[in-house]
Amino acid sequence: MSAEDNPTLPSDFIRDIIASQVAEKRYTNIVTRFPPEPNGYLHIGHARSILLNFGVARENNGQCNLRFDDTNPAKEDAHFVSAITADIRWLISGWGDAQLTFKPLGAVPVAHQINGQTDYKVTSVPADTAQAEPFTASDYFEQLYAYALELIKRGKAYVCDLSPEDTEKYRGTPTEPGKDSPYRNRLIEENLDLFQRMRAGEFPNGAHSLRAKIDMASPNLWLRDPLLYRIRHITHHHTGDKWCIYPLYDYAHCLSDYLEGVTHSLCTLEFVSHRPLYDWVLASLELPRPVPHQYEFAKLIPTYTIMSKRNLLRLVQEKKVTGWDDPRMPTLAGMRRRGIPAAALRRFVISTGITTHDGITDIAAMEHAVRDELNQSAERRLAVLKPVKLVLTNIAEGEIINCEAINNPQSDAPTKRPLNLTREVYIEQDDFAEVPPPKFHRLKPGGEVRLKYACIIALDEIIKDESGQVTELHCTAQLDTRSGEPNSGKKVKGTIHWVSATDSIEAEVRLYDRMVTVAEPGKEEDFMTVLNPQSMEVVKARLEFGLQTAVTGTVFQFERLGYFTPDLVDSTADKPVYNRTITLRDTWA
Ligand code: ATP
Ligand code: MG
Repeated sequence: MSAEDNPTLPSDFIRDIIASQVAEKRYTNIVTRFPPEPNGYLHIGHARSILLNFGVARENNGQCNLRFDDTNPAKEDAHFVSAITADIRWLISGWGDAQLTFKPLGAVPVAHQINGQTDYKVTSVPADTAQAEPFTASDYFEQLYAYALELIKRGKAYVCDLSPEDTEKYRGTPTEPGKDSPYRNRLIEENLDLFQRMRAGEFPNGAHSLRAKIDMASPNLWLRDPLLYRIRHITHHHTGDKWCIYPLYDYAHCLSDYLEGVTHSLCTLEFVSHRPLYDWVLASLELPRPVPHQYEFAKLIPTYTIMSKRNLLRLVQEKKVTGWDDPRMPTLAGMRRRGIPAAALRRFVISTGITTHDGITDIAAMEHAVRDELNQSAERRLAVLKPVKLVLTNIAEGEIINCEAINNPQSDAPTKRPLNLTREVYIEQDDFAEVPPPKFHRLKPGGEVRLKYACIIALDEIIKDESGQVTELHCTAQLDTRSGEPNSGKKVKGTIHWVSATDSIEAEVRLYDRMVTVAEPGKEEDFMTVLNPQSMEVVKARLEFGLQTAVTGTVFQFERLGYFTPDLVDSTADKPVYNRTITLRDTWA
């Protein structure tokens, strides 16, 4: 297979393991899954997990299920399900679409016979199939409940009446063994009866729990009779009020993987100590099909980036940003709205590799990937962010001097567009200095400068208002210095950008910068204290006329200024709003 995003396919310890298993013919089909909890938006860290799971599937002609891990109704919401699905589709579009698998609409695990035993499996279909939807762990609640009854019957689970606080006390510490619950040796019949009544809603929250019967003295705290089910009288966004007992992550995850036929369950390092429990649940049920295996890798944590949904939620709730998709947010939705190309994000994330040690990744590498991508793909336009008016006194009002600008200088076949030079134009305030510093090669008294794609101009007169503010710069256009004219070879030291005053539009432009002022906000006691107060500046800019109707999703280079894109949410033809995706150069280095 080809890897358009990477000249060579990535390699890492997980891919190496899978390659050797495939060589031994242990698997005929590699199935991975990406299992977000619908309790917030996906962030740049999740991109590593998505690209690993889809990448492994892609390189092995396998599949990757999108499964919502919706076992905790207290924090979850259906809105997050659709947002996360859209974000994943955006990130893998044109790269891993073929690997994305859903289930047929409404499908749940169905029974079939295998090796003389009843087994359960849920069907998977390509995500672009009509009538398909993402997998959800809550679709398996009935089956997970049946497996729990089976564990009880096998003497491997019991109903415990300890309060949550006492359960905690009995657990012990990493250095001291735990203590058996007084309910540990309940008879199987009694456990079955109580668990069925838990489901029937006979008990209030916290009155009972279902626990695995493993080993209260295990050095691994996760094996000290971990909770499998809790009573929670809460409405679930997907199952409504059907259930009042909810399975815990460690119980639901391994069995969800099994029901979907997942072969490799790839997750982050904090789950290393959970792996024995993952394996214990599957082994205890003596399931008829091959069971999935869990492998762990380090999280992606970029510098200058606030991580974790909990912290991002705080930014939203405390209105430090306009929402989860604020272009300053490190969410996939925020980055898309900011104009970051999915291909650049993929290239960056894949280049950071997959390891087993936690580390921090320089965000400059991501910015570099974005600039690299946009330098190739973005068409050039002219725009003036902080305009000052310039009058070319030798051009008549209404007169149009036809010029041409290049759209895509990086292309093998560059194209051009017409540009109208008129009597009144705008230039950038910063490109003029009445008292110029040394080596100032832009517009200054007695000086000459080239208006890009047009001609050289000479400054004649500075017009000010009563307060001394510059209101207009009167200049002479040297029309014989235009391309194709006799004096076109004339040299001046500075070239500046401009837009026609009559052939341009006004637009709101939002200039974004990093959200925090320190490289590792996670190390602060409270990241809120290191928020960058200048993370957004709003200016009233003038843009080349054609930018009024630009299609959302298109990113342009405004020459000399950076990369900009129409805002997905707020921009309209009447009131265009542009976001700065990124500056042309790293201003932090
Ligand atoms: P957060 O801690 O940011 O709230 P989470 O781990 O709670 O994230 P989930 O929705 O549970 O979020 O994560 C889905 C998958 O993404 C999990 O398999 C998790 O291991 C992985 N993941 C989460 N954060 C990162 C990260 N920074 N780098 C790589 N993978 C991650
Ligand atoms: Mg989580």
